[in-house]
Amino acid sequence: MLDHAHDMITRAAEKLNFTKEQTDAVLEIDNLHKATITTDAGTYDAFRFQHSDKRGPYKGGIRFHPQVNEDEVKALATLMSIKAAAVDIPMGGGKGGVVIDAKNASDEELEAVARGFVKEFHQHIGPDRDVPAPDVNTDARIIDWMVDEYEKQSGDTTKASFTGKSLDNGGSEGRAAATGRGGMIALREYARANDIDTNGLKVTVQGIGNVGFYFAQLAQAELGIKIVAVSNSSSTLVKADGFDFGGLEFSRGVADELKSVADEVLSPDDILSVDTDVLVLAALEDAVNGTNQAQITATTVVELANGPLDTSALDALEGRGVSVIPDVIANAGGVIVSYLEWKQNKAGEHWDEAHVNDEMEQIMASAMQAAAARADNEGVNLKQAAFMIALERLNQN
Ligand code: NAD
Repeated sequence: MLDHAHDMITRAAEKLNFTKEQTDAVLEIDNLHKATITTDAGTYDAFRFQHSDKRGPYKGGIRFHPQVNEDEVKALATLMSIKAAAVDIPMGGGKGGVVIDAKNASDEELEAVARGFVKEFHQHIGPDRDVPAPDVNTDARIIDWMVDEYEKQSGDTTKASFTGKSLDNGGSEGRAAATGRGGMIALREYARANDIDTNGLKVTVQGIGNVGFYFAQLAQAELGIKIVAVSNSSSTLVKADGFDFGGLEFSRGVADELKSVADEVLSPDDILSVDTDVLVLAALEDAVNGTNQAQITATTVVELANGPLDTSALDALEGRGVSVIPDVIANAGGVIVSYLEWKQNKAGEHWDEAHVNDEMEQIMASAMQAAAARADNEGVNLKQAAFMIALERLNQN
């Protein structure tokens, strides 16, 4: 993943005729903060890496996962700077991680680790310094513990040092659906730029979790697309005339509801070969590589997960004329609403959901329009265009 991020940056830098110093300045990470968190139950390696604060405070999630490692955190921190710059919000890039099997940890242990993280890193966090958020296996409950600990350590009660908080604790309306909604807007703007009618367009979604679900529901309601297949880690569900997401609420059991009306149940990997116009990748990093990309029937792929296509898959898809709507824009809805949460906290305001969605929509739509225009003007793909735009912004003084 770090190689992939560096590859994308280096390619965009070459297109922009950056000097070696300019390219190195984008690749370089400002701070690598590391610590060991000790609780009654164990010790855990923890990281808070801060890539760039040139455009605003460091911003990025904290993941709790047994496979968290330094290279992954470096890559994710770097990509956060690229993402924030690509969609033009005044935030930088950072990422945190704790090496912990969170799924098998007790609530008491999770709370102790969350508080331990803040005790170790609170000097590096703050509304104008670094604003962490949830990520894999962390959520509003864990962030609320961190906020409480941060208030104890620093005395700052603005709540603007973390985003992804619960609504009662200064969180923002619209956060749950934000990444899926942003992906829907990115697809809509891409379709407009390319004269594609979205009504009846066939769409498949790999990963019907939080992001995939809201994307599917909103894209059906607002773009008239037809979700002909979805998958999760246990199966692919196919319905030729489209699943109806209209009355559904998101839950971990949503796939079971869809299964009861599916025409066919296949294995998870079969999602790639289902006949479709658009494939949305909303599950995992590196889900598609140079080999399994050959199964993809779609002419457009949306990267809603972070880095679901590795470099060889990207090159192969481009080689056969498949368009890719890149992660750094397609899944930025979440970080945009995080930025709006921070803005609300700093101003002591709480906006209604329509206001939040409206602001996010404007930021997301402009970002996608700018990337599509840049790709068109320079004859590059959308990912390169997004990286070029981001690098130019990160390179400005
Ligand atoms: P989630 O855990 O809610 O959903 C992930 C889904 O992927 C689950 O349904 C899971 O069953 C499925 N999945 C796992 N392995 C699979 C496989 N092999 N084949 C098909 N499906 C599989 O997570 P999420 O919050 O929806 O995030 C999805 C992706 O988007 C992650 O990569 C995440 O890092 C990225 N992302 C999320 C956000 C956000 O706001 N949640 C923002 C930016 C990026």
